[in-house]
Amino acid sequence: MRLSRYFLPVLKENPSEAQIVSHRYMLRAGMIKQQAAGIYSWLPLGFKVLRRIEQIVHEEQIRAGHIPLLMPTLQPADLWRESGRYDDYGEEMLRITDRHKRDMLYGPTNEEMITDIFRAHVTSYKDLPLTLYHIQWKFRDEIRPRFGVMRGREFLMKDGYNFDIDVDAALHAYNRHMVSYLRTYERMGLKAIPMRAASGPIGGDNTHEFLVLAATGESEVFYDSAITDLTFGDRVVNYDDRAECAAIVREWTTPYARTDETHEAAIYAAIPEARRKSSRAIEVGQIFFFGTKYSEPMGAVVVNDKGERVPVQMGSHGIGVSRLLGAIIEASHDDRGIIWPEGVTPFHVGLVNLKQGDSATDAACAGLYTALAARGLDPLYDDRDERAGAKFATMDLIGLPWRITVGPRGLAAGKVELTSRRTGVSEEMAAEEAVARVAAIYQGV
Ligand code: ATP
Ligand code: MG
Repeated sequence: MRLSRYFLPVLKENPSEAQIVSHRYMLRAGMIKQQAAGIYSWLPLGFKVLRRIEQIVHEEQIRAGHIPLLMPTLQPADLWRESGRYDDYGEEMLRITDRHKRDMLYGPTNEEMITDIFRAHVTSYKDLPLTLYHIQWKFRDEIRPRFGVMRGREFLMKDGYNFDIDVDAALHAYNRHMVSYLRTYERMGLKAIPMRAASGPIGGDNTHEFLVLAATGESEVFYDSAITDLTFGDRVVNYDDRAECAAIVREWTTPYARTDETHEAAIYAAIPEARRKSSRAIEVGQIFFFGTKYSEPMGAVVVNDKGERVPVQMGSHGIGVSRLLGAIIEASHDDRGIIWPEGVTPFHVGLVNLKQGDSATDAACAGLYTALAARGLDPLYDDRDERAGAKFATMDLIGLPWRITVGPRGLAAGKVELTSRRTGVSEEMAAEEAVARVAAIYQGV
């Protein structure tokens, strides 16, 4: 993309309404525009990152054997009356009446609807296990929407639902989700720690939240620092292997890590003092096992291998897709702007022309652009007639992890400059080498 043809409405001034850095940078980098409290338009740069995050979520869910579908945002109230949650949910639910005076709602989550789909089509244990998920907009009429996309009213969530014949199989689904989530967050460059959590309105005893440590987080957490040393890396997982998934879950749930709701001071005090940590943190996901909480009242029943009719065992598993943009920025920025991890960056590399209109420099940039694109990379070429300082400031603000700078002086020596946004380190090299280096960095990302 050429910046002169793109839509990147960068703000020079700090927006006064933004209290935390991620919100400030998302507004300044022209990623979002607020349309009402907690409701945002996703401008092209923000939309690009949102799509990349979604894509990672899809890939990791499909890798785990989970099946994508799409349910609507609007739901009939009657489904929620069956589970009893229509009255329980309270004012966070946006209730709507259609022209025929039928009660509708904008879905805050989808347990009832997915249970309805299941009961309409599945009757036998032979069709299990089954995990269905979607990535869809949710609405919760939060009393205090704030921090930009972090606590919106309309927000994008991945929510998945497992259906299993017995508790053991459902607990394997729970473990499978934990493993797939560990991989998902790590691909986004995030350390998201699974912590034992309290269940809240969805119900169920087995639940973990995934938390990103950040001073601006709304949760309070307590943990053994040993857990922050764990990495998933590139291990290959057989998601059908119950013992293998359980072992990974054990690895990540053995060190103490809990939110304030489940914190137990006595167990915490037994951790060696140097490893005892507490922090603020951002919840970026949660997994639940809740058994027959919905299948029983809603009649989601299957015949088991003994010919008996049993309610199906279920769980639900959510990732805060739009919140993740804020969480990633909170975890990865400096005082000049965002620093995107390679896994989610909106463009792979920025290309800065130091002397727009100089025919040799323009030609070198055009050549680099073509060569990068030929390697399957998506460059952002700043071809505006601007000072070098302004171009660097824009690139730093929008946070592309790599920048190639091209100017007449370097070109005279046959060199361009490759700069890491994270370390600030620049290296001079031939244009072809810069292309090869960037391509190598993104191999396998
Ligand atoms: P919170 O405690 O932050 O209100 P929750 O526990 O009610 O969140 P879940 O029902 O667990 O939320 O939803 C799954 C994920 O969706 C959360 O882990 C979070 O990342 C995201 N999420 C929830 N509420 C919002 C919101 N208002 N804005 C953006 N993302 C949200
Ligand atoms: Mg939650």
